[in-house]
Amino acid sequence: MASKILSTDSKTLMKKNLQNEESLITTKTIDENNKQNRSESYTRNEVWFKTELKWINIVTLSLLHLCFIYACFTFNFFENLMTTAWIYGMIIIAGFGVTGGVHRFWTHRSYKAKWQLRTILAACYAAASMNDIFEWVRDHRVHHKYTDTDADPHNSNRGFFFSHMGWLMMKKHPDVIRRGCEIDMSDVLADPIAVFAIKYSSILKFIFAFLLPMMLPVYAWNETWSRAFVSQIFIRYILVLNFTWSVNSVAHIWGSRPYDAHINPTESLFVNCATVGEGSHNYHHIFPWDYKASEFNGSITTNLIKFFSKIGWAYDLKEPSEELIKTVAMNRGDGSHSLWKAVPYSANKIE
Ligand SMILES: [Zn+2]
Ligand SMILES: [Zn+2]
Repeated sequence: MASKILSTDSKTLMKKNLQNEESLITTKTIDENNKQNRSESYTRNEVWFKTELKWINIVTLSLLHLCFIYACFTFNFFENLMTTAWIYGMIIIAGFGVTGGVHRFWTHRSYKAKWQLRTILAACYAAASMNDIFEWVRDHRVHHKYTDTDADPHNSNRGFFFSHMGWLMMKKHPDVIRRGCEIDMSDVLADPIAVFAIKYSSILKFIFAFLLPMMLPVYAWNETWSRAFVSQIFIRYILVLNFTWSVNSVAHIWGSRPYDAHINPTESLFVNCATVGEGSHNYHHIFPWDYKASEFNGSITTNLIKFFSKIGWAYDLKEPSEELIKTVAMNRGDGSHSLWKAVPYSANKIE
């Protein structure tokens, strides 16, 4: 595993750095980036492509979702409210690992974190039991670089199902693989905690996503093993997966576009609630380096990062100036931003 990672690293280091342009961002660079991304002969017309199916994923995900539906109708959520509350507790813990950890920290470097916080983030991320940190970060950097083109792993122009979970059920488009190899991952591989989490991904997932979450209800409040298993594996795990996937599907299809009317990503209240604060996706695609992933404070993840910055474990929290946000919204938004309530919106703002 380690040698595979290191060889990928040395290969990618030979290529140009495709991210981290964030710190110099202006409305001009946003325009230029969008043009650059579209200029690689990527079109929004090529919806279908032929590829191999990943049958193991198709069968596993289908069975898990069938179990989820069965569990939702048969599990007695009122039998022990502690067990029910623990479903929500684990959604927050795993959600923080995804949003505050692999997304805002390892992918976008929107803040810096000391080893104590990085360890917590790695453990919380393992609780979500997704792809390892390397794969997640690489896929998400490609997603931002080539949003909704053939090189986007979950191109939302291919429809809801593909962008939600279908993309995990088949081999990636050749452009996704090609562009993924170009992504600079040296920062992730330079982080010993991330490398440890990548190397021991399977065992960490088993411990933090399944073993400990099931042991707590059994030993802390005498829950049965079967109810602990059903509530944590069939219900909580599938909810966390679908909530995370909804950012790629729901928040690329339905909602308003107050910061850039020319891109698919949207603002979605539903996704915001489900993902502890990742639903301001139109904003996030314009300012991916903002640690809040939103113009506004208030989400659980943002508050947790703020808490860790207070005790010194998180620092260098990045965010754009109010002036820059306003300029972007006025120039590129669809008119749904609250600032238009004071100023009448002109339809000719969208060309
Ligand atoms: Zn997106
Ligand atoms: Zn992102």
